[in-house]
Amino acid sequence: MSNLRFKAVEEAFKKKAIEVSAPSKFISDFYGKYVFSTTTMSKYLSKDVMKAIKNAIEKGETLNRSIADDVAAGMKMWAMELGATHYTHWFQPLTDGTAQKHDSFIDYANGPGENIIEEFSGKLLAQQEPDASSFPSGGIRSTFEARGYTAWDPSSPAFVMDDTLCIPTIFISYTGEALDLKAPLLKALNAVDKAATAVCHYFDPEVKKVYSYLGWEQEYFLVDEGLFATRPDLVLTGRTLLGHESAKNQQLEDHYFGSIPTRVMSYMKDLEFEGYKYGIPLKTRHNEVAPNQFELAPIFNETNLAVDQNLLIMSIMKKVARRHGFRLLLHEKPFAGINGSGKHNNWSLGTDTGVGLLTPGKTPAENLQFITFLVNILVAVYKYNALLKASIMTAQNAHRLGANEAPPAIVSAFLGTQVSAILDKLEKSSSEEAIVLDSKKKLSLGISHIPEVLLDNTDRNRTSPFAFTGNRFEFRAVGSSANCSSGMTALNAAVAAQLIEFKDSVDKKINAGSSKEKAIFEVIKEYIKISKPIRFDGNNYSEEWKIEAEKRGLDCETSVPIIYNAYTTKESIALFQSTGILSEKELHARNEVKWETYTKKIQIEARVLGDLAINHIIPIATRYQSLLLDNLSKINAIYPKEKAAELAALDASLVEEIAKHISTIKKNVDQMIEARKVANKIEDAYEKALAYHDDVLPYFDTIRYHTDKLELIVDDEIWTLPKYRELLFIR
Ligand code: ADP
Ligand code: MG
Repeated sequence: MSNLRFKAVEEAFKKKAIEVSAPSKFISDFYGKYVFSTTTMSKYLSKDVMKAIKNAIEKGETLNRSIADDVAAGMKMWAMELGATHYTHWFQPLTDGTAQKHDSFIDYANGPGENIIEEFSGKLLAQQEPDASSFPSGGIRSTFEARGYTAWDPSSPAFVMDDTLCIPTIFISYTGEALDLKAPLLKALNAVDKAATAVCHYFDPEVKKVYSYLGWEQEYFLVDEGLFATRPDLVLTGRTLLGHESAKNQQLEDHYFGSIPTRVMSYMKDLEFEGYKYGIPLKTRHNEVAPNQFELAPIFNETNLAVDQNLLIMSIMKKVARRHGFRLLLHEKPFAGINGSGKHNNWSLGTDTGVGLLTPGKTPAENLQFITFLVNILVAVYKYNALLKASIMTAQNAHRLGANEAPPAIVSAFLGTQVSAILDKLEKSSSEEAIVLDSKKKLSLGISHIPEVLLDNTDRNRTSPFAFTGNRFEFRAVGSSANCSSGMTALNAAVAAQLIEFKDSVDKKINAGSSKEKAIFEVIKEYIKISKPIRFDGNNYSEEWKIEAEKRGLDCETSVPIIYNAYTTKESIALFQSTGILSEKELHARNEVKWETYTKKIQIEARVLGDLAINHIIPIATRYQSLLLDNLSKINAIYPKEKAAELAALDASLVEEIAKHISTIKKNVDQMIEARKVANKIEDAYEKALAYHDDVLPYFDTIRYHTDKLELIVDDEIWTLPKYRELLFIR
C-alpha cells in the first residue's frame, strides 16, 4: 500500500475529534466581542457622534468629516485593544466571496524620520483605493483608468479579524458605477423600504420604515483534508469531476438529522464559538440529507447585516475546518448522485412598529395588509420569474437545480392550502362581500378568518423554489456558495417596483372617488388573477410541471449564459432604473462579468478533467491492463491451448473492455480540447460562454461515464484517487 490514497485513508481514520471549550460559560459573555456594535460604540464615542451614526444608519444621512474622524479614533482605540495593527476595507467584488487589502495603522509622526505613530483618520475610514484593475468590472473600468474606491457602509458594523480591523464597504468606480454586490443591495433595500412604507400608510400612518429580513440556511460538506489533498478536482474546482457512486450513499436516509459525528460536532462547536464572537446569532445545526453534509442557520436579521454575516461565517467556516483536519466544500454539487448544497433564503418584510408584513394579523385591517403584501409579492415574482432565476444562477448552481433534490430551473411560488383558499375566495367575491364596514364604519373582512399561525409543517412543499412558510417566503433556489446579495437585490427590487405600481393604481381609484378599502380590494382581486400562473403547489420535480410551466409562460430556460439575459430585458432595465438600483450600463457590464466567470469556471473544470483522465485514469488503467496481459501470457505458456482459453476468458474480456474505455476517453478528451480551442478564439463574452456551455460542457458526462466504469474494473490497490465511499464516509 504505497499509494497516496491509502496513506490518506489511513491518516484520516486515525484522526480524533479535538477538544473544544467555550471561552466562557455563557454565550452572552463573549457574544459580539469582535464587533464594533452600537453597544460597544457607545463606550468609545460621544453622544453626538452616536446620534449622527444612528441617523446615518436609519435615515441614510451622510456623516461629515469631523464625525468620521471621531468614529475612526474610537474604532482604532477599540480595535487596538483587541490586538489589531492593521485595517482594511472589506468589500464584495463581483467574484465570489470578499476582498480586502490590509494597511498598517503606522505613519510617520512628523514626516519621514524615526518616529512612528498609529494613525487612523476619518478619511481612511470613509474611503480606500484598492488597486481595482484586477477585479472584474465588465469593461466599465479599463485597466489604464483602473480607479475604483471603497466607501464605508456605516449600517454594517466593523469587526476585528486576526490582527485587522475590517470595515464593511461598497466598491464603486470613480464614475459612480457599482463594482460590487453590496452597493446595489443597499439601494434595493432602500427602494423596498420607501415603497413598502408608502403602502403601509394605507393601514397605519405611524410606520416610518420597513425592513427587509433575511435568515439564511447554509448547507456544506466536510471532507478530510488528507483525502481532499489527493483529489486535484476538489482542490482546483471544489467538486469531484470523477468518481463512481458509493454502494451506500443517502438511500437509507440515515444521515439527515442523525446524531452528529464527534469530529464534526467538535468542528461545529468551535465554529459556533467563533461565530458568536462576531455577533452572528447561530441557532441551528444538523446533519443534512447526504453523507458528510451539514447545515448551519442563524436567527434572521436585517438583510444587509445577514448578508455580511453569511460572508463572514463562510470564511470562518473554512478556517475552522482546517483546524479540525477538514476541508470545507461550499460548492453546490461536490458529488454526483447525492444531494447538493443550497442556501435557503428566508425572507420577509417588517415595519419599525414591529409588524411582520407577511404574518397574518389579528384584526381584519392587519389581514388586508397581509394579503396586500402577499399578493404584490406574487405579482412581482410572476413578472420577474426569469430575473429571479438569473439572480441565483451560476455554473455551480446549474448542477443542483433540476437534479431532483432542489427546485427545478423554473421559479414558481407555493402558498399552501390555507392561503390559496383565501386568495381563491377573494378572487370570486365582490367588493361588497369582501369589504364590510360595521356601524362605526370600521373595516371588517367578509372573507374567512385567517388563522394567526399558518406554520403547518405538514403543509410544506420541499420542492418549491419560493415557498410561503407562514410568516415569510423561503427562496430555496439560492446556491450554497452564493453571496445572498444577488438574489436579495433582485427580489427586493422586484417587490419595490411592484408596490410602487400598486400604490399608483390604488391612488388613482381613490382619486376617482372610491373608498380606500374598495380600491385596495379591487386592485388585489385583479392581481390575484394576473399572478395565478406563478402559483404551483404540486411536485416541482415532476416532468408534468415542466410542460405545464412552459404552457403558463414561465421561464424554463436551462442554459446558464442565456438565463443571464433576463437582466437586460426591457422590463428588467426599467425595473432597476426606475428604482435607482442599477443603470442599463451597469446591467450590461455585470452580465459580461457573469459570462466571463461562467466561461472560466467551465474552462478550469475542462482542464482538470482532461489532466485527470490523461494523467491519472488512463495510466492506471493501462497498468492494470498490462497486469492482466501478463497473467494471460503466463496462462498461455503453462496450459494447453484450450484450457488456457477457458482460464483466461475473464482477463481477455477485461483487457478489451479497458481498451474500449481508454480509447473513448482519449477521443473525447481530444475533442474537448479542440472545442476549447475554438471557444477560446471567440472575443464576445456572451458567445464564448455559449460555446463553453454548448460545445465544451457536454464532454464532461461522457468522459466521466467511462472513467467511472474503469474505477469499477481496475484493481482497488492501484487506484490513486480517493473514492466516494472514502470521501463521504470518513469523518
Ligand atoms: P426550516 O424549518 O425551514 O429549516 P428554521 O425554523 O430553521 O426553518 O428557520 C430558517 C430561518 O428562517 C432562520 O434563519 C429563521 O431565523 C428565519 N426566519 C424565521 N422567521 C423569519 C422571518 N419572519 N423573516 C425572515 N426570516 C425568518
Ligand atoms: Mg428552511
